[in-house]
Amino acid sequence: MNTILYIIIPCYNEETVLPITSKMFLDKLTSLIQSNTISNSSRILFVNDGSKDKTWEIICNLAKQDEHFIGISQSRNRGHQNAVLAGLMEAKDKCDITISIDCDGQDDINAMDEMVEQYKQGCEIVYGVRSKRDTDTFFKRFTAEGFYKLLNWMGAEVVYNHADYRLVSSRVLKEFANFKEVNLFLRGMFPLVGFKSTSVYYERHERIAGESHYPLTKMLSLAFDGITSLSIKPIRIITALGTVIAGLSFLGVIWSIVMRFMGNVVAGWSSMTCIICLIGGVQLVCLGILGEYIGKIYMEVKHRPRYIISERTEVKDTSNSHKKVHY
Ligand code: UDP
Ligand code: MG
Repeated sequence: MNTILYIIIPCYNEETVLPITSKMFLDKLTSLIQSNTISNSSRILFVNDGSKDKTWEIICNLAKQDEHFIGISQSRNRGHQNAVLAGLMEAKDKCDITISIDCDGQDDINAMDEMVEQYKQGCEIVYGVRSKRDTDTFFKRFTAEGFYKLLNWMGAEVVYNHADYRLVSSRVLKEFANFKEVNLFLRGMFPLVGFKSTSVYYERHERIAGESHYPLTKMLSLAFDGITSLSIKPIRIITALGTVIAGLSFLGVIWSIVMRFMGNVVAGWSSMTCIICLIGGVQLVCLGILGEYIGKIYMEVKHRPRYIISERTEVKDTSNSHKKVHY
């Protein structure tokens, strides 16, 4: 049976862009179906993220016009990451592969051909990576690229210049469903699932119509979520800082005692300085240690799967064997 593809498209207040891009998506799906790359049961799944404009009406009309369009709507606006997750979870039992993509036409839909090809070559996750960021403003490019570097330094594994345009197989999605965390940073979570993956490069265009829903405040909060969901390195930094300051405080104690014996300080200065240095250093180290435990608790409460099996050797069914293993 041919591969069933679901294209997952989050939409928030996109009434200006949806009538244009929906046609582009349908053309792409149709061409993939006609070239026999994917099955005719493939679908374009719109996820309405609590839009306040006519987005949902447009989606309902599209679904009436062509069976390849389907839609779900969230009860309220929950943000881009949650909308993508809702779509992926809706699709995971109905298809073989999903491709998530924004609905504004910024990501080049022609990269889908190569994504599907890579899946057929055995990759379970294919990351769409921007080959250049010419169409972004200098500020967006600078902040975004700095962010990827910071994340990697913090120990979170993210694919450089990959946003949320990616192919994920239903097999990976079934494992991914066991990641129960609420703070989502999908591009950093899929590498945690593992399986064979690769990247496909494409050029990112300007938005076809409408405006970006990612102002600086939302971008910063996504960045903050990314760091705090994937890494407890900030806590480690406190511990390290505490240790350094405690060491310096110790030197401060020695210094104040020496000054005291050299006799050129007012009465009480040495004891005060000793106490302040000591308490400051000890407090930071203690905070760091507390932080380590909080970090561990944080990781534990996420209940992430501890292992995921990707392959098993085949078990030969020898009928004279009395011990049968069922997989
Ligand atoms: N989006 C969403 N919910 C939100 C904000 C955005 O579903 O709360 C969708 C939006 O409709 C688009 C995608 O997420 O399909 C990316 O948003 P946008 O293009 O505004 O971000 P940018 O490309 O400027 O970073
Ligand atoms: Mg966009």
